[in-house]
Amino acid sequence: MSNYTALARSWRPNILSDVIGQELTVSALSNALTHNVLHHAYLFTGTRGVGKTSLARILAKSMNCEEGISPNACMQCNSCIGITAGKAIDVLEIDAASKTKVEDTRELLEQTQYAPVNGRFKIFIIDEVHMLSGHSFNALLKTLEEPPQHVKFLLATTELAKVPPTIRSRCIHFPLQNIQAQTIVNYIKAQLKSQTIKCDDSALSIIAQHAKGSLRDALTLLEHALMIDQKTLTLDTVTNLTGQIPLAYLSDLLKAMYQGKNALLEKFFNDFKSKATNYNSVLEQLINLTHQETMKPLYNTQSEYDDEFLQIAYDVLLQALSQASYAPSEQINFEMAVMRVAFFCPAIQQVTQSPPTVTVDHKPQDSLTHTTWLSIIPDLELSGMGLALAKELVIIEQNNTSLLCELAPNMKSLVQDSSQKAIVTALQKRNFNIQTIEIKLNNHQLNTYTQMVQSEKANYKQSVTNALSEHPQSNSLLETLKADLARLEIETTSP
Ligand SMILES: [Zn+2]
Repeated sequence: MSNYTALARSWRPNILSDVIGQELTVSALSNALTHNVLHHAYLFTGTRGVGKTSLARILAKSMNCEEGISPNACMQCNSCIGITAGKAIDVLEIDAASKTKVEDTRELLEQTQYAPVNGRFKIFIIDEVHMLSGHSFNALLKTLEEPPQHVKFLLATTELAKVPPTIRSRCIHFPLQNIQAQTIVNYIKAQLKSQTIKCDDSALSIIAQHAKGSLRDALTLLEHALMIDQKTLTLDTVTNLTGQIPLAYLSDLLKAMYQGKNALLEKFFNDFKSKATNYNSVLEQLINLTHQETMKPLYNTQSEYDDEFLQIAYDVLLQALSQASYAPSEQINFEMAVMRVAFFCPAIQQVTQSPPTVTVDHKPQDSLTHTTWLSIIPDLELSGMGLALAKELVIIEQNNTSLLCELAPNMKSLVQDSSQKAIVTALQKRNFNIQTIEIKLNNHQLNTYTQMVQSEKANYKQSVTNALSEHPQSNSLLETLKADLARLEIETTSP
C-alpha cells in the first residue's frame, strides 16, 4: 500500500474519541461503555458516509477489547487488531444488500446459539439492514425478542423508514447527523498539518462542499488528491477532481448572466467546452450561489443582484437541472438555461422601462415629480446601494434645491450618506438643480419603482411563459429565444 493511501486510511476513526460531528451519539455510547450498561441491539441511521459502520466497528472493539469494556479500546490486542482488519472470528459483518433471503438470515442467526470463540460477545454487524426481506426480518425479530446473553446486534441503515417498527423498537436508536462542512474542513486541516502537508483553504472548502456531509466521501476525495500531489493539496487538483468551479469564476458567470452580456457568455461557453465540464454540477453550483446571494440581506449584507433576478435565476436553473435528462445533451441544457436567465432579465428591464421623458441636454430641468422620477431611474448613473435606495423612494416635492422624499420604514437600512450622495450626483448629471435629499420614513400611497416593476414583471412573465409553453419543441424555443435576443441587442444598442 502506498504512503498516501495508508495515510488517508489512518485518518478514519478507530476509537470513539476519533469520531467527529456526532457528539450526542459519542457521549451516549461513552457513558454506556464506561458504566458497562450495554443493550443487546443498536441501530445506527443516517445518510451515506456519516460513520454508521465505522461507529458499529468501534463499538464492537470497545465491547470485545481484551483489556476490558471501555470507550477507548486498546487497539493493540488480538481482538482490536482483528476487528480493524475485518478478520475477528467473533465479529460477523454482513451486508444485507447482498444477503436478503430468509435462508441467508437463518444461516446467520443459527450462529447466535454458539458462544464466542475468543471475545466477550458474539457481535453481528448488519449493514443496510433495510434490505432484508420480510421473512428475514421476522427471523431476526425472533432472535431480538430473546437474544442469548453473549450476542450483540449492531444494525446500520440509510433508510430507517424501511426497517419494521417491531425491529426498531427493540434497538437503541442513534440517528447520525450529516457532518457540517466546517467540521470536515477543520478535521482535514488538522490531519494535513500533523503530516506537514500544505493545503489551500479554498481546496478544503471545495472538498467539504462536495462531500455533502459525508466524511467518507471527503476522505476518499482527499486520497485521490494526494495521489496526484503528495506534498500539497492545491485548489487546482481539487477542482479538476470534482468538477467544482472556483467561486470567483462562478460569480463572474452569474454577473455576465445578470448583465445579459452575450459576448462574455460565449467566452464562458467556449471555456466550458474546452474542458471536460460536468455541466449539471455547474448548474448545481450556480443554484447554490443564487441561494447564497438571496440570503445576504438576512445577514445584513447587500447583494449586488436584484431580488427579481435571483428569484428567476434560481427557478430557471433548478428547472433545467431537474429536466437535464430530457435534453439532447447536458451541454445544450446548460447553455439554454444560462441564456434563458440572461434573456429574462434584460427583457424584463426592457419591458418595464417606460420611454425616458428626460433627454440629456444642457437646459436646467423643471422640478422633479414622482412620475418623472419613475421614468428616469433606469437612465440614472446609479448602482449598488444608491440604485437600491432610488428604487424605494417616493418623491413628495422639490423645494428649491432640496428634494423631499418618503421611504417605507422597513427600508430604513438603505438610508446611507453615500447612497444619498450618489443619487444627488446622478440627478445633477441630468441637469436637475438638486443639492440635498431629505428622507422621511413613512408608508406612502404611491408606487415605488420596485413595486411598479414587480407588477409589470408579473404580467410580463406570465405572457412569456404562455408564449413559451406554446413552443414545446426545444428547437422552436431556441429560435424564439434567439429572435428575441437579437431584437433586444438591437433595441438596447440603438440610441
Ligand atoms: Zn483491545
